[in-house]
Amino acid sequence: MSAVCSLFQLHDESREYGMGDYEGAQARWCPGCGDHSVLSATQRLLARENLPPEKTVFVSGIGCSSRFPHYINTYGFHGVHGRALPVATGVKLHRPDLHVFVVMGDGDCISIGAGHWIHAIRYNVDMVALLLDNEIYGLTKMQTSPTTPQGYVTNTQPRGSYLPPMNPIEATLGVTNASFVAQTAEWVPAHMLATMEAAYRHPGFSFVRILQRCPHFTDDLFGELPKHPERVQLLVHEHGIDLEALEGRFPNRLAHDPADLDEARRLAEDASVIRLGVFFRDDSRPRYEETRHLPAYTAPEKLELLERELDRYAV
Ligand code: SF4
Repeated sequence: MSAVCSLFQLHDESREYGMGDYEGAQARWCPGCGDHSVLSATQRLLARENLPPEKTVFVSGIGCSSRFPHYINTYGFHGVHGRALPVATGVKLHRPDLHVFVVMGDGDCISIGAGHWIHAIRYNVDMVALLLDNEIYGLTKMQTSPTTPQGYVTNTQPRGSYLPPMNPIEATLGVTNASFVAQTAEWVPAHMLATMEAAYRHPGFSFVRILQRCPHFTDDLFGELPKHPERVQLLVHEHGIDLEALEGRFPNRLAHDPADLDEARRLAEDASVIRLGVFFRDDSRPRYEETRHLPAYTAPEKLELLERELDRYAV
């Protein structure tokens, strides 16, 4: 059997995958870290959608959550700080058949990676971007991140964080061509899974902010929230998140049509309540894959063009 044949045999369309098929190395996050919850919801999503591990890629930057690709049994790229999105964009543009997921922390995405974040939203390439937001730099031991609340004492700002925090949902909704913007919390796993599922099925760049507990450094920010469902408001709509699994829980609900961008911005701006759900979605927004109009060269033609270009610089 040729090598090419055996590669093709890796992908068996009749195969059904279970969660165990996506188990990678033993996760080394702190006990009680919300990243564990995100990992198991993600493995559940992959199993539900029956995504072949060899057709799935997780790309991350640097940070606690960016260890994700080590713990999930798919292809992965644990990259450079803040650069997960350009790597993932390159992967998806060259291999549109792959299912691409990006995992970033708040420092990774919103600080050093902010330029890439803004343009990834605008390019609207089909992938799922998960922002695991614990409002602190955990890996570098409690440094102020862009989402750290103002006045919060950290190791880099021991008199309290100087600036008002960035609001990632509000910022994403402000970028031209945003097409899917949602927020969920890892301590509400049914909501998180349903949100990821909606994001995965959306054709375009799906941005999901996941509020994430960090019991090691920001326990006072998130630790009590699971005991207080009244502090959470669920956004409800037939085009939003399927809330069947949450029936009888989280009574604080608000009807919101995710087609209404102005209302989404108004809801995101109001930080007096934690809102979970789809703020905005528009499946018709143009995607870079469809609009870049690449000429359809064959492989030999591409090689010939490449050789010709290289010859121009021969000395
Ligand atoms: Fe998780 Fe915080 Fe520990 Fe990092 S420092 S692994 S975010 S609990």
